[in-house]
Amino acid sequence: MSGNWENSVRRVTPYTPGEQPKESGVIKLNTNENPFPPSPMVKKALSEFDADRLRLYPDTVSKELALELANQKGVKPEQVFIGVGSDDVLSMAFLTFFCSDKPILFPDITYSFYDVWASVYGIKYRTLPLDGDFKIDPKDYMRENGGIVIANPNAPTGIYLGLDAVESIIAANPDSVVIIDEAYIDFGGKSAVGLTDKYENLLVVQTFSKSRSMAGMRIGMAFGSERLIKCLSDVRFSVNSYTMNTVSQICGLAALKDKEYFEKTRSEIISIREYSAARLKELGFTVTDSAANFLFASPKGRSAGELFEKLKQRKIFVRWWDKPLISDHLRITIGTKEQMDALFAALSEIL
Ligand SMILES: *Cc1c(COP(=O)(O)O)cnc(C)c1O
Repeated sequence: MSGNWENSVRRVTPYTPGEQPKESGVIKLNTNENPFPPSPMVKKALSEFDADRLRLYPDTVSKELALELANQKGVKPEQVFIGVGSDDVLSMAFLTFFCSDKPILFPDITYSFYDVWASVYGIKYRTLPLDGDFKIDPKDYMRENGGIVIANPNAPTGIYLGLDAVESIIAANPDSVVIIDEAYIDFGGKSAVGLTDKYENLLVVQTFSKSRSMAGMRIGMAFGSERLIKCLSDVRFSVNSYTMNTVSQICGLAALKDKEYFEKTRSEIISIREYSAARLKELGFTVTDSAANFLFASPKGRSAGELFEKLKQRKIFVRWWDKPLISDHLRITIGTKEQMDALFAALSEIL
C-alpha cells in the first residue's frame, strides 16, 4: 500500500564520492587516498589488539588521542574535537555553528559536500566565484554572512591561500564562525591551528584520511577555542556519544606517535607531486600550483572528459566532473612514482 508518507520525509540530493572500482590491477588516482600504507605502528597496534575490549563502550572523548594531538599541535586538550573522519566533524560543525538567518559563504568551486550539508540542515548559503586563476579573494568574504567555510588548500584546485589572507578573513568576521577545512594541509601549506588562541570564532578541521593513509579508519579532528569546542561537543553529545570506536582511537594514537614515518611519506608525496606536475606540463597540460596530494590539470585543447574515459578503459581512474568551470580539468591524485609513470605512459599514448 502506498500513501502520502513521502510528504513528511526529508529529501536530499546526496554527495557523490569518487568510484571505488572492485576489479584488480586498477591504478586508483581518483579519491585522494594515500598510496603508501599507514605507519607500521598501526599494523602492530591492530595485531596486538585484544578483542575482549570491544565488550565495553569506547572512551567518549578519545582522551589519549586528543591529548597527543593537543601536545603535537601546541593547544590545550579542551581545544581538540575528534570525529569519524573530517566529514563527520564538518557535518557536526555545520549543524552547530551555522544556525543564522544569514547565508553562509563558500567558494563556487570547492569541496562538493558543503552545499549538501547546507541543504540537509536547511542552512542558507551563497557561493562566491573564484577568480580566473581559481584563487580565493579574501575581500569577497568581508560581507554579511552567517558563517564561512573554506577548504585550504582548496579542492579540487589544490591551491593554497596564504595564512595572512586566511587570518584577514577570520579577523573581519568576529560575529560568525569561520571553518578552515585543512584536509590537505600536511602536503605543503601552513596550518591555521596556531590562530585558534587569537580568534575565538575559528575552527580548523583536519583528517587522518590523506596524509596519514588511514581513510578506512575514519578519524578526523577539529581545533578551536575552548568555548567553540564546547559548543561542538554539546551538539555531538546530543546526537551520539560513542562516535569514535576503540580500535580507531588506538590506531590513531599509534599513527600519531610515528612522526618519522609521517614526515617520510608526506615528503615523498610532495616530491612525486612536483615531478608529476612537470611531466604533465611536458605533455601539454596546464597545471595549477598544488599544495595538496593531487593535481588539477587541463589538457589544453583536448577533451578532459574523453581523456577520463580513455584512461578508465586502461584501468587508470582519475576524477572528472561534468560541471561548469571545471569540466576541462582532471583531478589526479598523487600515487607512487610507478603509478604516476604508468599514467604518463598512458597519456602519451592517448595524446
Ligand atoms: C577528503 C576530504 C574531506 C573528508 O575526509 P574524511 O575522510 O572524512 O576525513 C574533507 N574535506 C576535504 C576538502 C576533503 O578533500
